[in-house]
Amino acid sequence: MNLIFLGPPGAGKGTLAARVVEILHIPHISTGAIFRTAIAAQSPLGKKVKAIIDDGKLVDDATTIALVRERLMQTDTHAGYILDGFPRTIAQAEALAEFSAVDKVINFDLPDSAVLERLSGRRVCKNCGLNYHVIFNKPAQDGVCDSCGGQVYTRVDDREEAIAKRLAVYREQTEPLIGFYRDKGLLVDVDASPSVEKVVENFKAVIA
Ligand SMILES: [Zn+2]
Repeated sequence: MNLIFLGPPGAGKGTLAARVVEILHIPHISTGAIFRTAIAAQSPLGKKVKAIIDDGKLVDDATTIALVRERLMQTDTHAGYILDGFPRTIAQAEALAEFSAVDKVINFDLPDSAVLERLSGRRVCKNCGLNYHVIFNKPAQDGVCDSCGGQVYTRVDDREEAIAKRLAVYREQTEPLIGFYRDKGLLVDVDASPSVEKVVENFKAVIA
């Protein structure tokens, strides 16, 4: 089954994808991982991506499409895949349609207020990178990592103003994609507010 996962930051797409990988035995393909692999392999496209990222720019559509296309030709995608972070634009969605038939686009949605609550409560250990949450997953001692004793702090990215900005960019970018796939009858909405277990259950129901 060929799937695309959409969802705002904080919807838990990474966690959900890991669960779906176990259930459907298909690979989770994120553009971030594709870029890192290409850079590590020092392929011609990889060198190009490295130069773009080093420059602080966004990887252009043509390069991203070429890399995703290459990735989807690998044999582990025969039973399907989960695409995450791609497509981001209508141009990318149209290009994808030319080399792969998408079965369903899962829109893991979360209201803005919930995104804000989840992300602004996120804390991370400065030393080992372990994640915490002020409501859902507190360290035993305030501000101290359970695992290594390092300082637990709020990343700049997780401050409220930064979250609001990321969310606005996401909504603006994704709205056209949602319309694009809804028109094709491929979009299914799954509420990402409940527990991971419940969201996975709802996911199973919509793909059955
Ligand atoms: Zn730590």
